[in-house]
Amino acid sequence: MAQRLIYYDYCSLVLLAMILFSTVLRKMTKGKLNRLFLLLVCSAFVATAADIVSLSHNNAGYDNLNVRQFENMVYLFSHSLTTPLFASYVTTLTDTSHIFKKNRIVGILINVPYIIMLIAIFTNPLTGKLFGFDSNNHYQRGPVFWVMYLSVAVYVVYSLYIMFRFRRAIGNARWVSLIVLLAGMLSAVIMQYFFPKYPVEMFANAVGLLFISVMVQRPEDIMDVESESKSRSAFASDLQRSFDNKKNFDIIILKLSNLHSFGELLSYDERIGLLKETRSRISKLSLSKGVLPEVYYLRGGVFAISVDGIGRNRTDELAQLIFENMKQPITITNIQINLIAYVCVINVPDDISDSKAMSEFINNAVPAENGVSYAKDILGTGRYDMLIDMDGIINRALSENRLEVYYQPIYSTVEERFNSAEALIRLHDDKYGFVPPDLFIPAAEKNGTIHKIGRFVLESVCRFISSEDFEGLGLDYIEINLSVVQCMSSGLADEIIDMLKKYNISHDKINLEITETFASHYRSVMKENIKKMYDAGISFSLDDFGTGYSNMQSIAILPLVITKLDKSFTEFDSSDKMALVVQHSIDLIKSLEMKIVVEGVETQEMLKRFSDLGCEYIQGYYFSKPLPRDEFVKFIRANIA
Ligand code: C2E
Ligand code: MG
Ligand code: MG
Repeated sequence: MAQRLIYYDYCSLVLLAMILFSTVLRKMTKGKLNRLFLLLVCSAFVATAADIVSLSHNNAGYDNLNVRQFENMVYLFSHSLTTPLFASYVTTLTDTSHIFKKNRIVGILINVPYIIMLIAIFTNPLTGKLFGFDSNNHYQRGPVFWVMYLSVAVYVVYSLYIMFRFRRAIGNARWVSLIVLLAGMLSAVIMQYFFPKYPVEMFANAVGLLFISVMVQRPEDIMDVESESKSRSAFASDLQRSFDNKKNFDIIILKLSNLHSFGELLSYDERIGLLKETRSRISKLSLSKGVLPEVYYLRGGVFAISVDGIGRNRTDELAQLIFENMKQPITITNIQINLIAYVCVINVPDDISDSKAMSEFINNAVPAENGVSYAKDILGTGRYDMLIDMDGIINRALSENRLEVYYQPIYSTVEERFNSAEALIRLHDDKYGFVPPDLFIPAAEKNGTIHKIGRFVLESVCRFISSEDFEGLGLDYIEINLSVVQCMSSGLADEIIDMLKKYNISHDKINLEITETFASHYRSVMKENIKKMYDAGISFSLDDFGTGYSNMQSIAILPLVITKLDKSFTEFDSSDKMALVVQHSIDLIKSLEMKIVVEGVETQEMLKRFSDLGCEYIQGYYFSKPLPRDEFVKFIRANIA
């Protein structure tokens, strides 16, 4: 046989090495598609190297036939992986592997050509049927070599079938590049068959892989580089494909709920470090369970882990493992960070079967903090239904006047009378009944209706204060909750001052409650608003003290006269360390000459404890729940000594 040219293989080896390096350097090693691609490149690399050795031995007529047998087997084995791996690659790209799970026979049959090919390769030393050597020690194809071609044909036809049937799932640019690649590889096979002097198969293979690497494996399309996970847009497109293909799988959602609160405390690199560590924990835990999931980072501290065909029990076990593991602090440049992780399992399609419902769920559902939650338990609840219909609820409430302001009295233990009250908004919806403010206020802040709601509360309170009912109740002022978002609007201060003027109310009759989140947004517009109101004699209180992260800073930079201790901050055992924290916080607030209101006091015992700690003002169910205006007036009248 004529001498064969090795140069094609040298070129292909260099090309493959470049692809291998660039793939690893671009960190495209995680996720099933990336792994398959890497495997394709590696097997092509081994095949090319083996081809170089066997071609040179062939050209030289090297006579150690055992070595020649071995190198040709390595070549054929690694080369034979190409088409089945390509078929798997296309299957993964279109996310259609569940077809085999549904149809077991197809699932088994598809492996048959490959198994036959393997048998042919590994029995060749005994049979010599696949290849052999002539009297000049030149390589020669044997009588069953057609098995190799047949097998290649099966996987090519299968890949083409998948590519045509699920063309939409691949996208045009990728589809065309895959077709070009297949055509190129096939022509090389044909050429090599007719002109064995030019062994271009491996070269065509390498060029094809380069094509995939550039056109299909585009990290910028699918990767979130910072977290080394797949991106949000990859999640959306993969999910859509899975829904279209009616696939069964599970998604574990991992929400790092307090990530944002570390905001400015962490540098950019530290933040990335946190995400990478979380990502690596997910990988390690999955691996320990024998699972290779697709991991997506959806931004905002939310990871989605998609696990395929491992059964509900194992998914639940993995979710539990992730939940437990995330309790362990993460150390980033000597800082120990405790992340609060919510973990929730979604069974697809039983729980959720379309993309819109999925993104609604991921954006709105608040899973339990103390264990793994299941989408099926959250989805049916009234609270969840309300959450996803919140824009509608708020708009209905505004247009049908379904908002009402309630008042909760605040008691002065020193003066032994109710000296003030807090205005609290109430929303009653025809469909859902009472909708709690902690659900609709955040939604109103997001959709902007908080401004209308705030105006409504302010006007209701002003109307109340200017009414005859209010006179004689002996209340010094009414506290009104102000949202950060309201305060970002430049007209707020004038609006409030104008409203007080309209109802002829003295500025000390209202007090505006703000939360510590104000401190972190305390810039330009907000500063001007607060200064203007403060200069006009309106006082401010700090609401929910003890729930945030920067209370001390808030106290220092905001003009406050009252601090309200949050209910959660006041629930502790007297033996607790927390008792010390509360005691010292109270001392600190007092030394700044601020009043303290204790919120959420429900029992006589709590009342006594905080009176003993020197807190004068008490608010809570112990005295009264928030009441509609008329009932509130009756309540206060009945309690005037
Ligand atoms: P907040 O300002 O801290 O209001 C105190 C909350 O604690 C109220 O919940 C009140 O009903 C509740 N509460 C009072 N005493 C007790 C008690 O003894 N035990 C328990 N378990 N709870 C008690 P509500 O009315 O559901 O309001 C929740 C939050 O919604 C408020 O927290 C406030 O942040 C917000 N909010 C309410 N009304 C308005 C409003 O008009 N505007 C704005 N921007 N936010 C409002
Ligand atoms: Mg409040
Ligand atoms: Mg509060």
